[in-house]
Amino acid sequence: MRTFFRVINSIFFTVALIAAAFCGYMVYSVMHYPQAEHDAEIADIKSQTEKTKTDTTAALEEGEERLAFLQADLRNLGDEGVELADRGESLQTEVEAKQLRLAELEANVALGEDMPGSVEKARKAYADKIRELEEKVQNGETSVRICYWTLDDGPTYITKNFLDALDEMGEHVHVTFFTANEANNSPDEEEMLRREMTSGHSVQNHSYVHSTLASGSVYRSTESFREQVQQQDDWVYSVTGFHPTIFRFPGGYHSWGKDLLPGALDVLEEMGYKWIDWNCNLYDAGAEENLPTSSLEVTRALTQIPEEPIAVMLGHDWNMNTLVAMKTAIPRLMKQGYVFLPLFPESVTMGMNAKR
Ligand SMILES: [Zn+2]
Repeated sequence: MRTFFRVINSIFFTVALIAAAFCGYMVYSVMHYPQAEHDAEIADIKSQTEKTKTDTTAALEEGEERLAFLQADLRNLGDEGVELADRGESLQTEVEAKQLRLAELEANVALGEDMPGSVEKARKAYADKIRELEEKVQNGETSVRICYWTLDDGPTYITKNFLDALDEMGEHVHVTFFTANEANNSPDEEEMLRREMTSGHSVQNHSYVHSTLASGSVYRSTESFREQVQQQDDWVYSVTGFHPTIFRFPGGYHSWGKDLLPGALDVLEEMGYKWIDWNCNLYDAGAEENLPTSSLEVTRALTQIPEEPIAVMLGHDWNMNTLVAMKTAIPRLMKQGYVFLPLFPESVTMGMNAKR
């Protein structure tokens, strides 16, 4: 039993000892260990806080720096943008100005292209009106009389005087010039040709060289005839911008009739030309010694023209006497009810073969 107790005691004692040791250890642990741990943790947190603080400061500094860069970039971009916008605007203005100029030019081109059309339209309207008047005159429905006063072979060195005289007679007096480039060369022939046109007179074709039998150029063959008409047409067009439409044969078609040149009328028709002779004649061309005085020309005009409801007078704007006669005869005939008009291809007089 004692042994038993001793063993029990011994176990108890051992257990008690172990328990005491454990308690002692626990007390020691509680007294010493947690503080160190706490300190370490605190130190650790402090260190981490410091690090975070440092990192944050660095990040902020970096951010500020980056922001500054970005702002600088934005500013640059902004300036560039403003500059680009300005440039864009000025380009746009330039483009718009150019488009406007282009439209203007296109309109001018269209106007230019359309001009012959507009002029032709106006001319046609005028021709229709005069054609109507011609028919009334022919039918005796009006007291008006028409005279187509024609002047051949110019422009000459005195064509200017004829134009001045016609200007003085008023804006309603017009004549027809049957022009021939080489008939009477004068230094101002192109200027005169233009003035004839712009003054409202009719500018027509009398061949280029005007030579008849001497050189044979005009009537040598249908080819040379065509060439002569075409050459004069080209010249008039190059100077005035308008094509003649009526041909007067040098010497007159009646003088030669069909013997003149077989096929000549076909050539004219193919070329779109009308032709005309005359039914009144001043006989103011020919050898100088046989030229009539101006008073004789006036007499011829005042006697022949009233015989014709529609008169086509032949004269020449190289004859000074004709100039003088014209200045007297036209105003007198106007008082008798004559109107002096420019010839046009729709006139009833086209193809007229002269009686005189
Ligand atoms: Zn002639």
